Amino acid sequence: MANFNTHLFTATAASIGAALVAENIHLITPAHIPWLVFLGTLGGLLPDIDANNSKPVKLLFNVLAVTGVAAVLYTVKSSYAPHHQLILIAVGTYLFIRYGMFALFNKLTDHRGVFHSILAALFFSLLMTCISFYFLHWSALLAWLNGIFIALGLVVHLLLDELYSTDLSNLRMKKSFGTALKLFSYNNMTATALMTICTLMLYSIAPSPTPLIKVWKKTQWNNYLAQVSFEVSDNRLDKQREQRDIRRLMKL
Ligand SMILES: [Zn+2]
Repeated sequence: MANFNTHLFTATAASIGAALVAENIHLITPAHIPWLVFLGTLGGLLPDIDANNSKPVKLLFNVLAVTGVAAVLYTVKSSYAPHHQLILIAVGTYLFIRYGMFALFNKLTDHRGVFHSILAALFFSLLMTCISFYFLHWSALLAWLNGIFIALGLVVHLLLDELYSTDLSNLRMKKSFGTALKLFSYNNMTATALMTICTLMLYSIAPSPTPLIKVWKKTQWNNYLAQVSFEVSDNRLDKQREQRDIRRLMKL
């Protein structure tokens, strides 16, 4: 299994690459790049929330606990409760989410279960699209892009896990091969059914992807790829010329 830092680095690198392409074809402005790279990286860390005591799951429950405390304090602040009661409520909420709900989550999920699947990529992608569209009030095009970057990071994570399941020096597969990049969880059909229902519900309320499809169709990919390969070969020629000049100078 690839470790936390490997997942972090690879997801960030893949997201930077994808964000630069999106900027190059004028799908986004440079100001969008950091946010999309953040989402791609987040997607790259998401699957391991099913690994008990992994860094992503601890981070997730810390964030949830702090958000929970803020939400509860915001709700009860108008009741003018004494300070010591407010502190007790805050500590109780934190402990309940961070340890109580965390233990329950660990019990209900198995590592490399449904969170390590293409179904999870679809689920989190649509969840992000809907959050961006309905709560953050992004346009349909950018909301879909947000979702796509979550899916991109997640798929990169699954591919990396599979790559680490291959013992390249001995050319054989480890036992874990095939447990990360799968369509859904074959061992836990209840979790699969639940996630499928949620994914379909999100799809039914998601904004229309038409603006994104239009831009995709309008993009002249052949020209873009030709331009990129031309720039690469141009750079190579420049380097060759530079090396030739250095050699000539050294001979003088
Ligand atoms: Zn993993």
